[in-house]
Amino acid sequence: MLYDFRSFINPGYYAFGKGTLSRLGQLIDRRKENGKGWTAYLIDIYFKDKNIEAKLPIIAGDLIIWIDPVLEPKTSLVDEYAAQIKAHNPQLPSVVVGMGGGTAMDYGKAVRLMVTNSGASHEYQGLDKIKNPGIYCICIPTISGTGAEVSMTTVLSGPEKKLGIKCDYTMPDEIIFDPELLDTVPDAQRFYTGMDCFIHNVESLEGTWITTMGKAFAEKSNEMCEDVFMNDSLSRIEADEKLMVASILGGNSITYAQVGVCHALSYGLAHVLGIHHGVGNCIVFNQLEKYYPEGYKKFKEMQIKAGVEIPEGICANVTDEQLNVMAAKALANEHMWDNAFGKEWRNHINADIIKDLYRKM
Ligand code: NAD
Ligand code: ZN
Repeated sequence: MLYDFRSFINPGYYAFGKGTLSRLGQLIDRRKENGKGWTAYLIDIYFKDKNIEAKLPIIAGDLIIWIDPVLEPKTSLVDEYAAQIKAHNPQLPSVVVGMGGGTAMDYGKAVRLMVTNSGASHEYQGLDKIKNPGIYCICIPTISGTGAEVSMTTVLSGPEKKLGIKCDYTMPDEIIFDPELLDTVPDAQRFYTGMDCFIHNVESLEGTWITTMGKAFAEKSNEMCEDVFMNDSLSRIEADEKLMVASILGGNSITYAQVGVCHALSYGLAHVLGIHHGVGNCIVFNQLEKYYPEGYKKFKEMQIKAGVEIPEGICANVTDEQLNVMAAKALANEHMWDNAFGKEWRNHINADIIKDLYRKM
């Protein structure tokens, strides 16, 4: 292991089931002191014209910040949103809600920390750098698979690096899992984000860092993922509820193990070509039959069943210089390679092999 011993944190509260969003007001109220306080909502912009305000317990004095997930989270925007919250009311909010996919939830998780810690968020990228606990944070996934709702990191692109603010304080305090919220997710996006979960599990199970805990989470999560994408007898809401649980378990599988080849390569794609996490992982995994033969076979079966295309030819026009940067970014994820191949990972992977893989994507 590259990291020292750690004892892992989980969210304190899980509110689960169809219609649970209607309980958000109660959950917020119990975090207010003497019934006083306000809430900052960071919500995926998809919901902006969907009358979502009518379903949320918004009261006078609350603030909504709409999150545009067209770009993955940036430290500069985290700082901007934290400043907006502080300017809105000098008394800090009682609760910060992050509602949406991995992007909106990661913004929620980061912003709730940056209103209680001084300086700029890029100064806190890395492990255990945050000094003060953040505002009580409730995450509400509206698309499932990343496991961001149960992870102790928030992945941010900063001026120098794409790296998480990773520590116990990053973990959301409470999660609302309401499968009705997933109903509008388009099929392709649902598959890409769902496969992020599947790939977390495959990389955990096939890696050298696997633990009994990680294995238990990953095995059950993948059983559920396959059910979600292969079982015709499930209704959409039943499948979405399962996908929400699979995402939690998949997120925990990597907490107790580690991601591997696919995530390392996907980082290179994101850095140079700006390709999003879910679709990026699918593009990469589509070329990883050699490394994960069993997982690849199931991935292809699910892809065919879902009728979703995996983009191809995305590296057709990359320059040699870009390819070198992509390979360097991928290779820099040493912990992922260590998990994938063990301590002697340099005997298995190098820039040339990585560049050959990228050229096929
Ligand atoms: P996303 O949050 O980027 O959203 C993808 C798309 O789905 C967006 O267009 C969004 O508007 C749309 N969408 C969301 N909910 C919807 C709904 N109910 N109906 C219709 N459309 C909806 O996608 P994602 O795959 O969930 O998250 C990717 C992000 O998560 C990346 O930024 C990645 O870095 C991050 N991530 C974080 C962790 C972590 O541990 N913190 C883990 C994996 C990924
Ligand atoms: Zn992932």
